[in-house]
Amino acid sequence: MSNYNSEEIRRIVREVLLEMKTETFPIGISNRHIHLTEEHFNILFPNETIEPAKPLKQPGEFASKQTITLVGPRGEIKRVRILGPLRKRSQVEISKTDARNLGIQAPIRLSGQLDDAVEVKLQSEAAELTIPAAIVAKRHIHLNYQDMERLKLKEGQVVSVEIFEGSRKVVFEDVELRPGKDFILEMHVDTDEANAADIQSNTRGRIIEK
Ligand SMILES: [Zn+2]
Repeated sequence: MSNYNSEEIRRIVREVLLEMKTETFPIGISNRHIHLTEEHFNILFPNETIEPAKPLKQPGEFASKQTITLVGPRGEIKRVRILGPLRKRSQVEISKTDARNLGIQAPIRLSGQLDDAVEVKLQSEAAELTIPAAIVAKRHIHLNYQDMERLKLKEGQVVSVEIFEGSRKVVFEDVELRPGKDFILEMHVDTDEANAADIQSNTRGRIIEK
């Protein structure tokens, strides 16, 4: 019926989408997780090394076999995953719902912005550690510099992303860009945001304002 094969159709759709500047990308849901320094890891897991269990989408990053319990004044959350590799700063990323259940006032901050991160207790079988490391991660888009150029985006720019499919279509405003040489184009939201927009594992989004 058609003179086009699927490869050509894909190319044409891509060109049209680019022309409309509405290239779509996957939405990754970040469940609560923890990044640790080597020092903190060794306190919580003496005589262990961080053991990769499952690679994450961004190159080099992985979910480890190790988990801990988060303890706050109002409650605790068990089996919170440690992500690897180990980092220069420890960071506990939770949702607003988690913060409420723990009874702490974690601020919404980009990963790495820990100036006013709040205290939370990390408990393993071997030890416990109370550190000012809890934030609610601010939604963001991972992308490499070629993606930045193709999508005509600038460093430091904030965009709006439309979730255009599913039964709870929403527009997320104030989405930050996290460019990096090896990043794969993907937006990260937390579980509260994912539930609010009914985001599934195959849900995609697109930038609608720049
Ligand atoms: Zn991310």
